[in-house]
Amino acid sequence: MSLSGSTGRCSLQARWTFTTPQEVLENHVLEIDEGLVTDIHQKPYSETIRLDDCCVIPSFVNAHAHLEFSDLAHPFPVEQSFTGWIRELLQYRDKRRNALSDLVMGGLFELRHTGSAAVGDILTGNLTPADYRDHSDFPVSSVVFREIIGLLPESHDEQMHLAVQHLEQFHPHQDEDPFAEQATCTSGGLSPHAPYTVHMQLFEHLANLAADRKAPIAVHLAETEAELQLLSRQKGEFRNLLDERGLWRSGLFSKNGSPLDYLQLLRNVPQALIIHGNYLNQNELNYIANHPNMTLVYCPRTHAWFGHTDHPWEQLLQLGGRVAIGTDGRSSNPDLSMWNELRFLKERAPKADDQLLLQLGTTAGARALNLPEFGSLKPGSSASLNIIRRATSSQSLFAHENDLIGTMIRGQWIHAPV
Ligand SMILES: [Zn+2]
Repeated sequence: MSLSGSTGRCSLQARWTFTTPQEVLENHVLEIDEGLVTDIHQKPYSETIRLDDCCVIPSFVNAHAHLEFSDLAHPFPVEQSFTGWIRELLQYRDKRRNALSDLVMGGLFELRHTGSAAVGDILTGNLTPADYRDHSDFPVSSVVFREIIGLLPESHDEQMHLAVQHLEQFHPHQDEDPFAEQATCTSGGLSPHAPYTVHMQLFEHLANLAADRKAPIAVHLAETEAELQLLSRQKGEFRNLLDERGLWRSGLFSKNGSPLDYLQLLRNVPQALIIHGNYLNQNELNYIANHPNMTLVYCPRTHAWFGHTDHPWEQLLQLGGRVAIGTDGRSSNPDLSMWNELRFLKERAPKADDQLLLQLGTTAGARALNLPEFGSLKPGSSASLNIIRRATSSQSLFAHENDLIGTMIRGQWIHAPV
């Protein structure tokens, strides 16, 4: 295994080191060499960097983003409806087609500087793995999900071709050790966008392709009540949007359809990221909980931006399901910072356990994206970590007053604590 961007040796002693979200060691020394954690012990020496009143935690893993919107200063407003927001987004995207690789670069830069070492990005254009290699020696790992859109049957062959091509470029080594892919820092997956833009038959073919190539899938599902209305009764604002864009035809959706129909098609995919899931019902939550390949990705600030009803993330955890956190894109969120996302979530759910939140923002995303080198700081793990200064020892890890004062990715300081 080779990891690029490694420095020489480094020795850090923090008041608290989270070797995993569940295991905290007090006053231990973390040894780092060649981009990896090599040892943890209790014998500091003269070169050991002392970080009193600080926590060292594994780097964040941002399970869902749209880096193509990384230059937006403010999210698009939600004035009347979700479909109104989509109309604005499509208009904006069409204007920026030629700048896609710069926008991705800008997003990766922001991720690196806000403590994320890995991201699940949704790609809507034809970029290559080289476009995600951000010209630095300590790149963010990207799992690049090619967005596929195709409601009308005549578009399916072309969309399948696009999916195959993407996997050939971004996910060519499906039978090798996943670490072999980590050296390149990119891998690929597919994103059938959502039930209202992808015909169920195309959805099924994409799921079969992903299962066959051992590639992950990310899908926006049960995001709005309007989506449920379209699936069950073929009515509502999505029907109007499809009509307006010349995409409506009778027979495109089966009667009494639901998100469960789509979940069932994902049962054989190695990793399925269910994005948002704001309106999943009890049956659907049970189905996700019973399928270990499925992770629900909750984007707390985006969820709040649209003013949805309570998100079922805690309910799914109680059922034994898996939940990871994403920032979504800057089209619905002011930034791509997982640190800000987790502090926002702590504010919204003050009773939530800090170590649980840390797990959702680190190991859960690493597992969902099949990036086992991230999410822990044990010997052999990537030396990708964040340093948090905590105002008082009794305070929550995600308290508003705490600062993220240092970030290291693959053994390189992105910003060193001062
Ligand atoms: Zn999204």
